[in-house]
Amino acid sequence: MSVLLRSGLGPLCAVARAAIPFIWRGKYFSSGNEPAENPVTPMLRHLMYKIKSTGPITVAEYMKEVLTNPAKGYYVYRDMLGEKGDFITSPEISQIFGELLGIWFISEWMATGKSTAFQLVELGPGRGTLVGDILRVFTQLGSVLKNCDISVHLVEVSQKLSEIQALTLTEEKVPLERNAGSPVYMKGVTKSGIPISWYRDLHDVPKGYSFYLAHEFFDVLPVHKFQKTPQGWREVFVDIDPQVSDKLRFVLAPSATPAEAFIQHDETRDHVEVCPDAGVIIEELSQRIALTGGAALVADYGHDGTKTDTFRGFCDHKLHDVLIAPGTADLTADVDFSYLRRMAQGKVASLGPIKQHTFLKNMGIDVRLKVLLDKSNEPSVRQQLLQGYDMLMNPKKMGERFNFFALLPHQRLQGGRYQRNARQSKPFASVVAGFSELAWQ
Ligand code: SAH
Repeated sequence: MSVLLRSGLGPLCAVARAAIPFIWRGKYFSSGNEPAENPVTPMLRHLMYKIKSTGPITVAEYMKEVLTNPAKGYYVYRDMLGEKGDFITSPEISQIFGELLGIWFISEWMATGKSTAFQLVELGPGRGTLVGDILRVFTQLGSVLKNCDISVHLVEVSQKLSEIQALTLTEEKVPLERNAGSPVYMKGVTKSGIPISWYRDLHDVPKGYSFYLAHEFFDVLPVHKFQKTPQGWREVFVDIDPQVSDKLRFVLAPSATPAEAFIQHDETRDHVEVCPDAGVIIEELSQRIALTGGAALVADYGHDGTKTDTFRGFCDHKLHDVLIAPGTADLTADVDFSYLRRMAQGKVASLGPIKQHTFLKNMGIDVRLKVLLDKSNEPSVRQQLLQGYDMLMNPKKMGERFNFFALLPHQRLQGGRYQRNARQSKPFASVVAGFSELAWQ
């Protein structure tokens, strides 16, 4: 039986989310051939200099430089999300998205013995909208969480976005502590009084009992691209085009390169993308969860080891040639969930990927939508709620394109006993909300 505590949740957010007609990054596939102007951006100059001095660079290095170079990276100094940015994400479309994820974490916390403390850790929190919606649910369900010490930990490389996150999440009256040289580069207190800290790297987040969240984070991690040739796998590199001034082009490496080790021996595709950084992060999350308990929820667009060329760019809600005007557009590649699963294997259990519309349906999106619609008399708000629902759930929009994937301790799925706190010991439930219909324990 599913019993949903929707009526206890907060009122509709006053802030209207972005209107719907913007595309999201998952939608299109770039051939990289669209004609476009090629302004000489500071990033292009930097890359040309780098290639001239040390030779062509891998697509992974190109992506990493373009997105997160500390001086000129696309993510570092701009707010690219939302109506005025380059792309839009689910939490920016509807408050319901974050609310249901908040319910997911509470449901997991309850199912695993209601620990006396947990850390909520988000990788790549964007504008802080998602964690803000989750924390609102935690506040509304304060009676359930009342004896639990919660802290928030954000892993963010962008100076600009971390400032926006702080504005969204913290109380102006309580000044933030800043220390650019420290692994914890910013600290404060959220509007609901929860300690919050910022890091550039997951490794610096304390290893306590934690719930991890990564929404549209893995797709921005650098990928290596390969093509099968009669001589074997050859990696795609970025080089300077000798025919056109100030232009980059793709070339194939003349011989094997080290990243080839990431390709499966029985690979049948003739073009593949591999993302070693994603593997490193999944291994770290898996080790942490195996050691201290908790869970990780990953939501992104992607495939299960089937797609080939998905590396693409977005600028101003339009597809953008990945090699043109680097630093001015977002770069992304579909997440290979089969690879994430392999990297978790043996350490923790994984669930999914399942489609976003199935996950949100299981979490009770229809009931939550009805509660919000019943509460609102404002036609524009009602219309926005319905449009947001359609965008998140419609199989032709985000409903089928986006996937949910979770990492959990093995005992969580085996119905074993919860070991962390003998006093609160209780059997693990076998069903995990979202991947099955939500039912409060
Ligand atoms: N999760 C948000 C934002 C997605 S955009 C949402 O769904 O709205 C990707 C986010 O990851 C941005 O916050 C970006 O600054 C951050 N990011 C990109 N590369 C990163 C890295 N290597 N380490 C940490 N954060 C990174």
